[in-house]
Amino acid sequence: MASKGPVSAKLWVYDVGFGDCLLLELEYAATTRFVLFDFGTKGLPPRASAGHMKQIGAAIGKKLSGGELAAVVATHRHRDHVSSFELIPGLAPRTVVQPWVDQPSAKHDWTGPGRGVQLRAVRDPLGFMPATLRAAQSSSQHALAVLGEGHSLAAAAKNNSANPRALAFLKKLCPPSRHDYVWAGGRAKNLERALPGVQIRVLGPPTVKQVATLLRAPRRSARDTAEHWLWLAGLTDEATFWRRAELAMASSAAARQGQGRALFPRAPSRRTVPPEVRWLVERMGRERRDAASALVQAVDSALNNTSVILLLTIGKTRLLFSGDAEVEAWRWALEEAPNHRQTRAAVRETDLYKVGHHGSWNATPHATLWPVFGKTGGPRRSGRMVSVLSTKPGTHPNVPAAALEKELKQSTKHYCTRARRPAGQHCVEVPIRLRK
Ligand SMILES: [Zn+2]
Repeated sequence: MASKGPVSAKLWVYDVGFGDCLLLELEYAATTRFVLFDFGTKGLPPRASAGHMKQIGAAIGKKLSGGELAAVVATHRHRDHVSSFELIPGLAPRTVVQPWVDQPSAKHDWTGPGRGVQLRAVRDPLGFMPATLRAAQSSSQHALAVLGEGHSLAAAAKNNSANPRALAFLKKLCPPSRHDYVWAGGRAKNLERALPGVQIRVLGPPTVKQVATLLRAPRRSARDTAEHWLWLAGLTDEATFWRRAELAMASSAAARQGQGRALFPRAPSRRTVPPEVRWLVERMGRERRDAASALVQAVDSALNNTSVILLLTIGKTRLLFSGDAEVEAWRWALEEAPNHRQTRAAVRETDLYKVGHHGSWNATPHATLWPVFGKTGGPRRSGRMVSVLSTKPGTHPNVPAAALEKELKQSTKHYCTRARRPAGQHCVEVPIRLRK
């Protein structure tokens, strides 16, 4: 009997600068089916024209006209992943896959679908419940005002800010019953139907219920707990941030009213802050900026950790797409989840890995994920893993991480959007060998 699954596969990786846009092409006996992972940018590639994203949108639209678009996977709601879908003419996916936090009917304090623990100690961990996520996104907008456009985190603050237009567009792309809002260990039923012969495992994002179990796991060290994005209380929860910011503003206002006396009271002066407290105003300003920076970074990580992680298996070939998931999401999938042993065994066989978060170090965790890959090795290793990186240096400090890029080049068959291409060609073609 002829297999009902794909007979060949290919991945098109579009150079959107700092962002993601990958089109998976699956050739079936009678049709071609596509899956589009993300389409957005927060920094165009060098020398790109103003119409760069529009050109890519048109190119994708043309390619899609030769087959069926099985799914749009919007891994998470950062702008560099979802802001440009509108530029693809005639976009009509059979299904749309998004993380559970994006479910439009979600109650504001929903801790996620599926089974989990009762949350007692954890009230409002920043960045995961739909309402806190929204609040965090709106505070990113305020943080941007505090930091100023020139600040090194301004791009991240903008990227974090709410993007209701993109979410509304995704919502309308297909009827509600054909949306999959997925979570670690759950299923993507519409996607399964849209891709016959492809086994789909959902490894992320975890839900608040799931991750809350980490709090009680005795073998986690204090350092690990301190690193965890949910437990970075103090600076990273929104209420504390604004309390601090208000305090800083109130103090500087009090200082401005001037309890001290001017040195030359009759001299015309634009400055109303008495000299003896100017140091305080300056410090308060710095405190505000520090708090805003910490908030932007925390929101950035929290949003990254809402990324959909999918492991697709075609025959014996395994393709791993992980959005921008960071170490916490990987720890859940590979070390903590009830089915983590099976997941590890499956991830070990990965043939193609879409490098997480544009090559940042904590999205391909050095200890948690990297050693699990079983097909890394030198150029002579047969069937070695393919890695695919979409990035643009200079947007985030240390992204892509030089050490990671070196390792990817040495131990995998590496493709990157930065590779030289003929002028006018916006994508990298990645061949995929399907093993029976
Ligand atoms: Zn990203």
